[in-house]
Amino acid sequence: MPPVSLACRGLGWNCEWATRAPTAAEALDQFAQHAKCAHKMTELDAATRLRAESAAVALA
Ligand SMILES: [Zn+2]
Repeated sequence: MPPVSLACRGLGWNCEWATRAPTAAEALDQFAQHAKCAHKMTELDAATRLRAESAAVALA
């Protein structure tokens, strides 16, 4: 699997955070952590998770 990049901007959030991870699952884990700390989400809700999944970009 190619590495994956994921950025808050991909979800339309006004935030410079971005990550690059070996798998989409890891990118989503990092996103969940960041969302908790920086966006005050106690838990990643299903809708946000879906948006993050579709915002994750596979790096060829
Ligand atoms: Zn952010």
